[in-house]
Amino acid sequence: MHPHPRTGRPFGSPVPPGTGWPGDPATRKTPQADDAAHVAQLAGQTESIPELDALISVCRACPRLVSWREEVAVTKRKSFADQPYWGRPVPGWGSPTPRIVIVGLAPAANGANRTGRMFTGDRSGDQLYAALHRAGLVNQPTSVDAADGLDTDTVRIIAPVRCAPPANAPTTAERNTCAPWLDAEWRLLSPHVRVMVALGGFAWQVALRLAAERVAKPKPKFGHRAVAELGPGLRLIGCYHPSQQNMFTGRLTPAMLDDVFADAAALAGLSG
Ligand code: SF4
Repeated sequence: MHPHPRTGRPFGSPVPPGTGWPGDPATRKTPQADDAAHVAQLAGQTESIPELDALISVCRACPRLVSWREEVAVTKRKSFADQPYWGRPVPGWGSPTPRIVIVGLAPAANGANRTGRMFTGDRSGDQLYAALHRAGLVNQPTSVDAADGLDTDTVRIIAPVRCAPPANAPTTAERNTCAPWLDAEWRLLSPHVRVMVALGGFAWQVALRLAAERVAKPKPKFGHRAVAELGPGLRLIGCYHPSQQNMFTGRLTPAMLDDVFADAAALAGLSG
């Protein structure tokens, strides 16, 4: 057991559901999906974002990813050896009725897999949340842990895979197994969403798949600040992923992130 870095309460790693981790959506009784068919069944029945978050956060449908996320939670990066690791799937973060949805990829092994919140605890997240704050879309410039008070009324961050994969590379089968969680999330969110922001080309394809019935042929191509009209009232904006490599090489700069979120806020009717 190690103390949570903010609350001081002790937790094992991975964190057992319903033991008081800040923002843990699950209880000890939340049903655990054990295979792809069970994911599809539970996701298809879900009628609210809190219920979906709870189900995702205890999913065990991908044996390789369950092993990896839990192994990382036990072995830990040296610099976080004194912290508990979430070590479970990471649900979407943000408003349950967002105007803007940001599509990422998968949790980072020592970032979201440690903190339990999307894009939290690594450099990509540092860049992303700082830019969201500069755009007036979240209430503080940093996202450090699940009890730091970060909040938003307008944005939600989602991902096509919820468990940290080895080498950041989920298999096609793992992506397919996880897809019903995202489909259910989009079913619940889409009535509110005006803008999707895709972080990278893969996320762009995921976003086009989610909005498939509104996507014209030929499919719009990904580009930084490319905007695709997905029918009345919904647009997709491309953004290079704020990975450490993209930021370090200058392929993506803080100013470029600001441009994207200024566009998103304007198109969502949130600026001015
Ligand atoms: S990747 Fe998705 S489907 Fe697979 S175990 Fe994690 S949450 Fe479940």
